[in-house]
Amino acid sequence: MSEPLYFDANATARMRPEVREAFGEALLRVSGNPSSLHGPGRVARHMLDEARERIAAALGVHEDELVFTSGGTESNNLALLGALRPLPTRRGLAISPIEHSSVLGPARALQRMGRPLRLLEVDASGSVRLESLRDAVADRPTALVSVMAANNELGTCSPLEEIAAALDASSERPLWHMDAVQALGRVPLDLRALRVDLASFSLHKVGAPVGIGLLYRRHGVVLEPLMYGGEQEHGLRPGTENVASAVAAARAIELAVAELEQHRQRLRSLGSLLWGELVSKLPHLRLLGLPIEHVRRLPGTLNVLSPELEGKVIVMRLDLEGVAASAGSACASGSLEPSHVLKAIGCSDEEARSGLRLSCGRETCSEDVHRLVEILWRTLKSRT
Ligand code: PLP
Repeated sequence: MSEPLYFDANATARMRPEVREAFGEALLRVSGNPSSLHGPGRVARHMLDEARERIAAALGVHEDELVFTSGGTESNNLALLGALRPLPTRRGLAISPIEHSSVLGPARALQRMGRPLRLLEVDASGSVRLESLRDAVADRPTALVSVMAANNELGTCSPLEEIAAALDASSERPLWHMDAVQALGRVPLDLRALRVDLASFSLHKVGAPVGIGLLYRRHGVVLEPLMYGGEQEHGLRPGTENVASAVAAARAIELAVAELEQHRQRLRSLGSLLWGELVSKLPHLRLLGLPIEHVRRLPGTLNVLSPELEGKVIVMRLDLEGVAASAGSACASGSLEPSHVLKAIGCSDEEARSGLRLSCGRETCSEDVHRLVEILWRTLKSRT
């Protein structure tokens, strides 16, 4: 069977050749534990420190502000639970309703422990309503706000500057946690300029191995660890560090940052081509989120609805045709529940089970787009 057409870049990306090479070399080189005082330990420590420095330079932050984790899910949990557990329960939390389940989950857990949780309003495109954010921070002691940089299902980017300004204008500025998992390498991100306090990254999304993520924690932000053990990662993430993956991640982030503009333009053209071809062949399709050319659209991500399309069924049929796509988020695609993201932007339960997410990545080319549209057209036609 030929290589599948891969339109699921938001779920994960293939490891980049340059990263595979760096990873392989690091695996061969590392033989000690970075906490050990002997030679092999010192080599491992040096490799880890160097990887952290390179990542900090690429992201424009200080190396002490970075905590290596296992991925986006852990970073999100550490950010929310770690920042809020030490604070009095009356100090609330406000999140957008379209956050990933790894933000919604800890937020709900904190709510069960008695902490006020407010769901911000989003408009039909999935953008947070700034009025609702201003209200949330004005009318109660809100300790933390979690609003993601770019939504994984819809491909809507948040109005980041406006959010930063709204938070700055509040009398008691809450911490801002940003899930930046889908934004890295696809959207310009200046954590310092945006005055972000905590930001989560998942590095397999940018071509690093699975099993490594990052939490950015601005200097001065107090966090409590989720697990207890050694003093690794400032005591915030105990356990022997994943040195070779950190080295691979440094390479992946450097490449993602250096190629941002070029990659973004490519994804943007692919997204426009894909949507143009889809509507010309399947005019009844509806594009969810922002218009395709909107500046706040995550380039290369589309979520479409069609009357005869049921997301999960179509994903299975596309799979039989050699196309990898997704119905909503990869983490929820085994579930029969309607997508909470689509429901939050006003879709009915039926519609919220029907979204087909197509996300382009580094390896996608225009030929893939033509083939996908042809296959999708055939697949849908055979159902009518
Ligand atoms: N946050 C967002 C926006 C995501 O899209 C994902 C994964 O798709 C995650 C968090 C979780 O990342 P990980 O798979 O590394 O745990």
